[in-house]
Amino acid sequence: MSKIQFHPPEQSLSHYAQGQLDPAMSLMLSAHLEFCAHCRQKVADIEQQLAVELSAVPDVPEQAMEQELDSMLQMIMQQSPDTAIAVEQTVRQQQIELGEKQFTLPRALQTHAEHIGPWGRLPGKIQRARVDALSSSKLNFIYMDQDSSLPEHTHQGQEITLVLAGSFHDEAGSYHPGDFVIQNKQHQHSPRTAANQDCLCLTLLDAPLHFTSGLASLLNPFSQLFFR
Ligand SMILES: [Zn+2]
Repeated sequence: MSKIQFHPPEQSLSHYAQGQLDPAMSLMLSAHLEFCAHCRQKVADIEQQLAVELSAVPDVPEQAMEQELDSMLQMIMQQSPDTAIAVEQTVRQQQIELGEKQFTLPRALQTHAEHIGPWGRLPGKIQRARVDALSSSKLNFIYMDQDSSLPEHTHQGQEITLVLAGSFHDEAGSYHPGDFVIQNKQHQHSPRTAANQDCLCLTLLDAPLHFTSGLASLLNPFSQLFFR
């Protein structure tokens, strides 16, 4: 695997460690961490630091502690059998299939398989599947076939792309599995794949794309397709 060049900002890792990210962003981070030992180490360091800070908090009186344990036990005992069944029925899906191709899902998404919508075709040999019901931002799988491109566009909000398999490139560089690429209003780019290379990504958008180049600006209504 090629070396990962693009990582989430330090602050996001810190928010992740503290459980402060919304579910979709948290999922993007988890998926990046599956690829990236460097960021896993950073998160472990942050967690350790948090643990030190927590242990500096004055001791909880023993009696309060016992009460807490009691109520936790009670909660566990009271969980209805329905809950247990629901857990058993969660089917772990480890792969997605696109035509004859199979891709391994990030572990973070294997238990959300029921949220992965059907694949639909977008213009330009691109396919998309939504991941629903996680947050107000839009989480999508984007699959770019070999030799495909997306018209040049800017971002009205923030676009985060995590490469899961294959690679793509734009004016600024090329991106490989694990790369966590953040683009915003200042970035204008036209992502494309090489003639012999397809690419599967997970993207998180918080506003529709805005197509900038000549004819492609006619596609702006179509940009809403990426944001449903
Ligand atoms: Zn990283």
